[in-house]
Amino acid sequence: MDLKIYNTLSRRIEEFKPLQKGRVGIYSCGPTVYSHPHIGNFRSFLVADLLKRFLEFKGFAVTHIMNITDVGHLTDDADEGADKLEEAAKKQKKDPLEIAKVYTASFLEASKLLNIKPPNKYPKATEHIGDMIDIIKVLVDKGFAYVVGNNVYYDVTKFADYGKLSGNTLDDLNAGARIEINQEKKNPQDFALWKHDPKHLQQWPSPWGKGFPGWHIECSAMSSKYLGAQFDIHTGGEDNIFPHHECEIAQSEAASGKKFVNYWLHTRFLLFDGEKMSKSKGNLYTIQELIEKGFRKNAIRYALISSHYRQNYNFTFDGLNAAQQAIDKIQQCVLTLTELRKNKKQGAIAEPLRHLTSNCLAEFDAALYEDLNISKALAVLFDFIREVNKAGDMNSTAAAEMLDTINKIDSVLGVLDAADEEVPGNIIELAENRKAAKLNKDFKSADALRAQITAEGWLIEDTPGGYRIKRGEESQ
Ligand code: AMP
Ligand code: ZN
Repeated sequence: MDLKIYNTLSRRIEEFKPLQKGRVGIYSCGPTVYSHPHIGNFRSFLVADLLKRFLEFKGFAVTHIMNITDVGHLTDDADEGADKLEEAAKKQKKDPLEIAKVYTASFLEASKLLNIKPPNKYPKATEHIGDMIDIIKVLVDKGFAYVVGNNVYYDVTKFADYGKLSGNTLDDLNAGARIEINQEKKNPQDFALWKHDPKHLQQWPSPWGKGFPGWHIECSAMSSKYLGAQFDIHTGGEDNIFPHHECEIAQSEAASGKKFVNYWLHTRFLLFDGEKMSKSKGNLYTIQELIEKGFRKNAIRYALISSHYRQNYNFTFDGLNAAQQAIDKIQQCVLTLTELRKNKKQGAIAEPLRHLTSNCLAEFDAALYEDLNISKALAVLFDFIREVNKAGDMNSTAAAEMLDTINKIDSVLGVLDAADEEVPGNIIELAENRKAAKLNKDFKSADALRAQITAEGWLIEDTPGGYRIKRGEESQ
């Protein structure tokens, strides 16, 4: 069986064939570091993480690159707006690099909280200006780009395939173009590769004078530097399709003469109250904010990966609570199995249980092979858990096998908390009794049970999704 993924380029589901057997190169458009990334951004980053984890699970050696945009991303697609980093720097009276440092750190911290496997590299745009200049030079030499004063523009009419990703033809685009066209551009849809602006806070020397790069050229330069002129998969959110990825294709294919990317994978928006969550609208939540509200980091990860990447995900707190409950169910099963693994009873695994594990893994794979059908994959896991719970007592070999199955699945999902895994059965029992006592409004018993748990060196916390146990002393 092979992975099938929806390719934005062909507009259909295709069988995934890597360029090199057993190896996959993935490039993901990373954050523009002018403010804290929000859960919408992370939905896109998590889809890349899920894809990468699954490919690794299936034995591929994955090289994953995710860039950090710290210059050149303007507020307006038509090259007219302000640089987002520059705007933030001016507002906060800081240097743009300082702004980039703060929000890159915030992004990396949130990525770690969400258990995102770090890519092989997070290249920064400002550290690759020379690579961008090299490509721009080639584009000018080949006649795909032209120089006006100290600016360099890409001539979209020179690239016959312009529009092949987004479906936007130049005729359609020109019909909808704004009246106030930049006088320097030969065609309204031409875009800047290099911009001159004496007021811009970040400037580099170039053959065309001092200036800064356009946003699109950054990703062409950094992807080819680390993955080659041609690679397997490029990911991003759906708003990256046009103009960003369309322009990346035009630049990279014109410069190298090769097909740039074989599979384009785009994540649909995370919505809040029916609207795209975005930094510009300000209708956002960050990972850190949700954790401060008492939600568990793995529940946030679960919620953000649990719906299909080609469907919008409407973020709600109910959804987050449901994710916490789902994780509790998995965690509970892990705890039961961890206890059973200590069982003195050993021996062969009963046939129905062996069947259960092999079926579960085969169905889990089959679901994700189908264009990352995560809902189906999760349903497979919960069916498995139901059957394990139904089986009840089992010998230690069987329990170890069942645990191994869940851990294999979690190497893809990444939602289980290693620390929680070790919570002993007697502590869980106390916690469950406390939950029951609270439900019966028997708060005296609930307090006594909490004290017992604390005395054993564990901490119990109540969160909107249920209780959470971790090692530790109660702070005085
Ligand atoms: P930015 O930091 O704005 O450059 O965005 C980083 C990534 O997040 C890009 O791939 C965007 O397409 C993606 N993105 C932005 N907003 C959302 C959203 N609401 N849902 C899903 N992905 C998003
Ligand atoms: Zn990009």
